Amino acid sequence: MRLATITNWAYGITVALTFVTGTTMLLASNAQQDERAAVELRHSLGKATARLNVDTRALTDHARQFLDTGDQSYLIAYRRELADLGTVERRIAHIEDAGASADELAALKEAVRWADTLHDEQSAALAANEAGDAAGARKILFGPEYERELDRVDMLIARFQDLLDRRVEDEVRAATGVAKVWRGLSEVAIAVTGLLFLCVLFFVFRQRVLRPVVKLSDVVNRLAAQDFAVEPPEIGQIDEIGDMAQAIRVFRENGIERQRLESERDADLAVRDLLSRMTQRMQGCDTLDDLKGVVQRFVPEIAPARAGRLYLVDEERNAVVAACSWLSPIHSPREFPPTACWALRRGLVHRPSGGMVDVPCQHLDFEEGHLPDTLCLPLTAQRETLGLLYLEPAAGNDDVGPTPEIYLNMLAENIGLALANLQLRDALREMAMADTLTGLANRRQFDAVLEQQLDLAHREGRPLSCVMIDVDHFKKFNDTFGHDAGDAVLREVGAVLRGATREPEFVFRYGGEEFTMLLPGVDATQAAARAEEIRSRIGAIQIAYGERDLGRITASIGVACAPDQCRLSRLVLSADAALLRAKANGRDQVEVATGPAPNVPQERRAAAG
Ligand code: GH3
Ligand code: MG
Ligand code: MG
Repeated sequence: MRLATITNWAYGITVALTFVTGTTMLLASNAQQDERAAVELRHSLGKATARLNVDTRALTDHARQFLDTGDQSYLIAYRRELADLGTVERRIAHIEDAGASADELAALKEAVRWADTLHDEQSAALAANEAGDAAGARKILFGPEYERELDRVDMLIARFQDLLDRRVEDEVRAATGVAKVWRGLSEVAIAVTGLLFLCVLFFVFRQRVLRPVVKLSDVVNRLAAQDFAVEPPEIGQIDEIGDMAQAIRVFRENGIERQRLESERDADLAVRDLLSRMTQRMQGCDTLDDLKGVVQRFVPEIAPARAGRLYLVDEERNAVVAACSWLSPIHSPREFPPTACWALRRGLVHRPSGGMVDVPCQHLDFEEGHLPDTLCLPLTAQRETLGLLYLEPAAGNDDVGPTPEIYLNMLAENIGLALANLQLRDALREMAMADTLTGLANRRQFDAVLEQQLDLAHREGRPLSCVMIDVDHFKKFNDTFGHDAGDAVLREVGAVLRGATREPEFVFRYGGEEFTMLLPGVDATQAAARAEEIRSRIGAIQIAYGERDLGRITASIGVACAPDQCRLSRLVLSADAALLRAKANGRDQVEVATGPAPNVPQERRAAAG
């Protein structure tokens, strides 16, 4: 039952009880009035019957005094009072009107009749006295018979009054009883009304004040403990408590919004922190493998709901080739032509199933009508497209998660810059390792490669040959034709040596007019033959410097093969020593190391060269 219905009923019952209380009080008051009326009746009837007695006594006295004194005034008074007495009916009529009962009236009538008998005797006595029979008159009025009759009248009046008293007493008792009952009822009704009023007051207080306040207090406590899952009670009442509930609801909604913003900010900060750390790590990458490792580690953290691939542009093959991937992407192949991707074509981010309708890239593989929410981000630096960052929903994830696109753009920018840095560093490294005049690898590169090849030859147990080439009398080209002519000779010799090198062989400009070749897997005999071939190719070089012919160019060559002719650790020294012998033997010839290589320091050999 609704609260309003209950309170309405309670109010109705309270009003009805109030009405009942009023009625019972009125009835109690009426009973009291009855009681008062009975008492008043007793009083008036008492008064009326007392008069009857007095009249009888007064007439007797007047008649007796007249007889005693002969005074006519007594007789006059007697006759006047007798004249005043009416008939029996008239005298008791007003008593009957006053409410005397039939029994009482019968008793009273008998008394009046006896009084009338006395009047008759008085009249007889007075008549006898008038007739001169004073003694007879006195005998009547003063005789014992007359006294008995007087007493009888008194007795009958007393009887009437006794009846009257008993009746009045009964009526008063009954009226008192009724008044008591009604008073009791009215008191009960007042008590019930008061109790009901208190119950209603308590019920209303508990339902409309206490219970909502307790509920709201619980909600406020939980909200204070940042528990925004609590539901404020629905309180529709229009009063201060309703206002309070509304205020708490608004406070909770604000709290939820604030919590959402805070968690968004935290997630934002976490992504920014990841991006920042990823950028730092990428800056420290020395190789593409380092970069791939960083990308594979960080990108799934930054965009956890997306699988993806890092593609690099391979210009030689005109293809975009996957460098690495994470979370197993399935919608894009490992390799495809750059024109198959709209992001690479336009140099802009491409998201075919985003908010805007767009065409899917050709490199995407998907079932008809089930276009995945892919994202292609071109990796560019200084207007050059270096690769592509490709993202798609990870397996089991229809949603691509909350990572904002702005962070993915930043991610692509940072990876693009890191790729550009890496390429720049590679170019610089190549430049540092290369000889600018001949384009061959330089002495620094030779040292690095020699170490690797010695290690490889040692591990694989295969021969490694070293060929040292020194241009004969090179100084004379500088001296005779100028430094530029000398440079031209060096470039040509370098080109001949590069042309004579096969995979996986290496050729270096060792320094000045001196060159070195490392021939993995080539034994001593093959190395000597290759050296002879190189010598003859150098001898065949013809360079015209302007109008002038520079003449024949020759070179002396020293060859050593480890482990055939020397230990690996002494390979270069042995080749160097062979070169010295070739010089010493008259130049333009090949000399092969024999037996253990002499312990000739390079400095001495250089001085000799
Ligand atoms: P040998 O037959 O004994 O080897 O005599 P050489 O003249 O070839 O050797 P030497 O060591 O006496 O002279 C080498 C010269 O090469 C000295 C140096 O000025 C010159 N030279 C070194 N590097 C270059 C270079 O890059 N360009 C030019 N034009 N000359 C160079
Ligand atoms: Mg020389
Ligand atoms: Mg030299």
